[in-house]
Amino acid sequence: MTQLYKNFIDGAFAADATGLVDVFNPATGALLAQVPDSDESIVARAVEAARRAQPSWGRLAPIERAGYLRKISAKVRERRTELAKIIVAEQGKTQQLAQVEVDFTADYIDYMAEWARRLEGEVLTSDRSNENIFLFRKPIGVVAGILPWNFPFFLIARKLAPALITGNTIVIKPSEETPINAFEFAKLVAGTDLPKGVFNLVGGRGRSTGEALCANPNVDLITFTGSVATGSRIMQTAGRNLTRVNLELGGKAPAIVLADADLDLAAKAIYDSRVINTGQVCNCAERVYVERGAHEALVDRLAQHFKATRYGDPSVRDDLHMGPLVNQIGLDKVSALVEQAKRDGATIITGGKRADLEGFHYEPTLIVDARADMDIMRKEIFGPVLPIQVVEDLDEAIALSNDSEYGLTSSIFTSNINSAIHAARELNFGETYINREHFEAMQGFHAGRRKSGIGGADGKHGLYEFTETHVVYLQT
Ligand code: NAD
Repeated sequence: MTQLYKNFIDGAFAADATGLVDVFNPATGALLAQVPDSDESIVARAVEAARRAQPSWGRLAPIERAGYLRKISAKVRERRTELAKIIVAEQGKTQQLAQVEVDFTADYIDYMAEWARRLEGEVLTSDRSNENIFLFRKPIGVVAGILPWNFPFFLIARKLAPALITGNTIVIKPSEETPINAFEFAKLVAGTDLPKGVFNLVGGRGRSTGEALCANPNVDLITFTGSVATGSRIMQTAGRNLTRVNLELGGKAPAIVLADADLDLAAKAIYDSRVINTGQVCNCAERVYVERGAHEALVDRLAQHFKATRYGDPSVRDDLHMGPLVNQIGLDKVSALVEQAKRDGATIITGGKRADLEGFHYEPTLIVDARADMDIMRKEIFGPVLPIQVVEDLDEAIALSNDSEYGLTSSIFTSNINSAIHAARELNFGETYINREHFEAMQGFHAGRRKSGIGGADGKHGLYEFTETHVVYLQT
């Protein structure tokens, strides 16, 4: 019998649903479970529960809130293997990556809990000799967290942990593609003594449940990770109530490879970045600009990696580099971009078509002769496809990198420190990785420029996005 999940509202699993959303395994097409679709009234109940719970949660000492977070991370660790299997089945990532995601999630919750003794206000100097000015940081109130499917479990923590440690309460809506892990997370929370209403979970589709959550006037902050199109729509919905937004959107990360780079390192880092999560990662390299002198040697190395890629159903094999794409839409998008690149005159070195397997698999695809005007160099691919363009020098590479509607991450491979620093100064992106893989640290600040987002996540700066300032003038 298909497993049926229930919303988690006000500390209890609630039976009501306006319909059901089927969840499938992208590697096989098998039906895995059903989760509730939730309309405006169900969403409103969840938001009201969060609203009721917020004042007393916000008044708790941060160290007490940290204690609750640590109970949740301990539960995640207890069930780490089982949770990873669930993520593999519903999202299609490899077993190793799913395990990294679960473990990183627990570490991330603990990292945010550690901020309990570090949350700071400020004491400001006054223009008056008999006055003190205090700047308090306070919770914003009720947070709505809307999640994508690509790192579904970690993104729960990226929203929940900073929201809760700073005294907010939260309602989470997972992606309809990958909600099972979130409902399992709710079971973990239900097994702790977290006060009711502090964390709520509602299942459902974007246009119904997601939209209802964003339109609810009792939501004080919407923190969203997903596509540019949805981010733009959410901003419009939020605009009706002037609800604050924090948006982590798409990317089209450039990787610049100079002729003096360690090409083994560059090829491995860029290759890993294309196959990790089957290329469905917002900050991974999606376009390469290589100096002419290194082009052939880089392509040779990359081709060896691409040809050696093991892919298939990650639930049955534990030695894969990648699994399937998440759904038919993703597969169609990747196929269409590669077909267009072929028509535009690009050359396929490896792959270039759907894999001959059940499920939504696409062959690892290496493309050369790409040009700046091609869609494959401008649009987010979100699949295991890497287009390469030759450039004459670093300044051309920087100019092409910056000429994008996206501005999330970027990278450069060079053995010349001056070139690296010059690139770091000139690249107009939220993050730049020098001679390393595309992957951020939890103490950093993950934030996109241009259409890649508004605000950011992680570290001190991400944490304070969940607070409001209150300035108090005390005249004595
Ligand atoms: P998506 O925008 O299709 O969906 C994301 C979430 O928004 C889902 O939960 C969906 O149900 C919901 N939604 C859809 N329409 C809505 C609406 N009108 N109102 C409210 N909610 C709505 O994105 P996706 O396909 O799940 O995720 C892939 C995208 O996410 C890629 O573009 C990727 O680059 C981006 N992403 C960005 C980051 C980052 O940190 N910047 C991280 C991961 C993924």
